[in-house]
Amino acid sequence: QVVTRFAPSPTGFLHIGGARTALFNWLYARGRGGKFLLRIEDTDRERSTPEATAAILQGMGWLGLDHDGEVISQFERAPRHAEVARQLLDEGKAYKCFSTQEEIAAFREEARAAGRSTLFRSPWRDADPASHPDAPHVIRIKAPIEGETVIRDQVQGDVRIRNDQLDDMILLRSDGTPVYMLAVVVDDHDMGVTHVIRGDDHLNNAARQMLIYNAMGWEVPVWAHIPLIHGPDGKKLSKRHGALGAQEYQAMGYPAAGMRNYLARLGWSHGDDEFFTDAQAQEWFDLDGIGRSPARFDLKKLENLCGQHIAVSDDAALRHEIGAYCAAAGLPALTSRQGDDLERAMYCLKDRARTFPELLEKAHFVLTERPIEPDDKAAKALASVSDGILGELTPQLQTASWTRQDLEETLNAFAEAKDTKFGKLAGPLRAALAGRAVTPSVFDMMLVLGREESLARLAEAAG
Ligand code: GLU
Repeated sequence: QVVTRFAPSPTGFLHIGGARTALFNWLYARGRGGKFLLRIEDTDRERSTPEATAAILQGMGWLGLDHDGEVISQFERAPRHAEVARQLLDEGKAYKCFSTQEEIAAFREEARAAGRSTLFRSPWRDADPASHPDAPHVIRIKAPIEGETVIRDQVQGDVRIRNDQLDDMILLRSDGTPVYMLAVVVDDHDMGVTHVIRGDDHLNNAARQMLIYNAMGWEVPVWAHIPLIHGPDGKKLSKRHGALGAQEYQAMGYPAAGMRNYLARLGWSHGDDEFFTDAQAQEWFDLDGIGRSPARFDLKKLENLCGQHIAVSDDAALRHEIGAYCAAAGLPALTSRQGDDLERAMYCLKDRARTFPELLEKAHFVLTERPIEPDDKAAKALASVSDGILGELTPQLQTASWTRQDLEETLNAFAEAKDTKFGKLAGPLRAALAGRAVTPSVFDMMLVLGREESLARLAEAAG
């Protein structure tokens, strides 16, 4: 069974790169009936905060990246990590090193002067334990000195590192705390992780982690180190490129489905497919489709995909998600009547809206109440028709049967009788019905509002 995991360090919000890593692992597991686990790498006690953990969980929740089982705290597993270090010590695959900081610095200085590698080689590696002093020490792994360590990476290919470039890394510090590298390996092993998909900034760590796997005789998981995300200018994504946090995208009103689709395409591809559903993404996602060069973040593309997802989303689901958007953006919550009206109108709102603010702008007609306050553009449109013309329309609409076809016929006939085109009347009608210039079609608004409310708004605008 496939087991993947997302292992964020809780030092800040869930950033776009992290969200993509989580998504890739989630897709890989979900598409294979596997498990997707969540481990919070909170061993750095100074930088880890509960607020950051909460923000990461919130971001994953928004993106719908549900994980299996309990959230695992790496810090709480420290005794288990130390146990593994001691096991390696007992088996002679690790050793106690009593060298002091000063001795290590002196070693490096001497090596530099002699033009040798400055990698520290501990004199305690082969010392007889009987000669050990009763003094503070660290536990170091006995790394191989000859040959090479090969990382078989699904994205990067075989990455070879000469063993004489790897030192005897510390496993346990002198205060008995395990180092991060040991924690990752022990956790991945104990959690049964079969596939590790993570940023390629961890590729160097992989070589050192490999030494621990080998020393323990554990099977190495499949590794896929994915290139980082760059900004549109090709430089590493940073604050100067705009929003970095998943939550910020929620607050800007991007639908989660569009965001997932976009993030999936950020560094992974399936032929020429741009738009796809979650089910398709789960079915198609594989490690072969991950590219080797950094993907560039492209807001236009994100918006296009979001628009396509809004257009095909279920109306009730959209209403629900817009409610969550309002809360995230600090907007007043929709009343239940507004929610009902919004859902009823959704069919004519969701077509060309790329974000929820765009959709809500079009929804203004159904969310507002009389008296309708026209904005500047709407006021101009109202002023463009001769006085009384909207009032003259009222009796005709009074008798029209309230169907799209009948409304169209009535309005066209009226325009003709007035020697004008319906197009000339549309602006003022929009303004009267919505108080806005950007709205769904006049007919859709009339159908959604109903006869009574539509006529009341026209009468109000006619003055
Ligand atoms: N905690 C690491 C990070 O947030 C991830 C480590 C891993 O995936 O192995 O960058």
